[in-house]
Amino acid sequence: MSRNNSTINHQPSTISFSHFRADFPILSREVYGQPLVYFDNGATTQKPTCVLETIQRFHNEINANIHRGVHKLSEESTREYENAREVVRSFLNAQKTSEIIFTSGTTASINLVAYSFGEVFVHQGDEVLITEMEHHSNIVPWQLLCERKGATLKVLPFDDNGELMLEKLPELLTLRTRIVAVTQVSNTLGTVNPVREIVRLAHSQNIPVLVDGAQGVKHGIVDVQQLDADFYVFSGHKIYGPTGIGVLYGKEEWLDRMVPWQGGGDMIATVSFRKTTFNELPFKFEAGTANYIGAAGLATALNYYSNIGIDAATAYEDELLRYATQKLTQIEGLKIFGTARSKAAIISFLLENIHPYDTGMILDKMGIAVRTGNHCTQPVIDHFGIDGTVRASLAFYNTFDEVDRLVEALLKVKEMFR
Ligand code: PMP
Repeated sequence: MSRNNSTINHQPSTISFSHFRADFPILSREVYGQPLVYFDNGATTQKPTCVLETIQRFHNEINANIHRGVHKLSEESTREYENAREVVRSFLNAQKTSEIIFTSGTTASINLVAYSFGEVFVHQGDEVLITEMEHHSNIVPWQLLCERKGATLKVLPFDDNGELMLEKLPELLTLRTRIVAVTQVSNTLGTVNPVREIVRLAHSQNIPVLVDGAQGVKHGIVDVQQLDADFYVFSGHKIYGPTGIGVLYGKEEWLDRMVPWQGGGDMIATVSFRKTTFNELPFKFEAGTANYIGAAGLATALNYYSNIGIDAATAYEDELLRYATQKLTQIEGLKIFGTARSKAAIISFLLENIHPYDTGMILDKMGIAVRTGNHCTQPVIDHFGIDGTVRASLAFYNTFDEVDRLVEALLKVKEMFR
């Protein structure tokens, strides 16, 4: 079924993003003799040439360990790393670079907060509030903390559309709640959560909030001062940057009072066998050799994304989402999980009673990369009483024609199982 003979006339985007595809070398490869359709952007995004060039140039021309050297290369390397920190600060509109900590990714950032904040502020009988739609990496670190401290993990549920039941929030925020951790965008349901409202409610009781921006960071411009979250975390690889680099933004007032997470080089001021004193922010939380080349690659990715226009890219993805949702719901027997009013371009679905793994495997043979399973959100899958879903997650370099190819391929899958 091609778009021409479909009953849906999508409104062509006012801005075309297809010319940006040339910036991503991998998008021109074939899979099983078919042009690749990459719909697994929720798991990781592809990298533009400029990011790949930054990484190569760094290795070819600059590479030296940072902060510790007196020589030219180390000085240049350090400058690039600290410039990257400034790029992240500006991207998030944080007040200070001391509030930007480089980590290996979202998971590491959340573990850092769960440990370093938890050590100081969470005690026996206290509560930590998360939501039912969190990624495992925003569940398990808090569970470990609660077990260690004798605290209780509380959960804000979502309804069958995949919207958080905000009306239950006031009763879940108690005098014992020490922190709220919530995802900005659900990686399985696509729901865009009202995080500003959640922050406002929590702050009215002086409770800090961590926002998991792994999926949200590329969905519209993030302004941490406007959001007013106490912590905001994301991974480079989900916003067109390299793997192995991520960010923890934290308000200085919290970071200052938190204990270090990992010990080692760079995070110390003085070391003796009697006593060690710690470095100032942000270095207190950056033990060991940092991924300085990853940081430089991330800075290039953030600049690239800013230059193409984040709001325009998001608007285009929203159009793709609307189009894909309309087309997919026309397939008889296809059910979408996650129908919130506010959604990012992530569609989880099941086709009749075909196992998601089978659907995913056959799509793969047709050159279409989707993800199948629980997407590291087992409680979300349990909520619906299913085994898993097929997930198509889109990026600005995807096209309406690629959506058509997915629809055509799904009709073939249906035919095969008839
Ligand atoms: N939170 C959410 C919402 C995610 O989608 C992911 C990645 N799928 C993570 C956390 C973990 O990110 P990472 O594996 O890059 O640490």
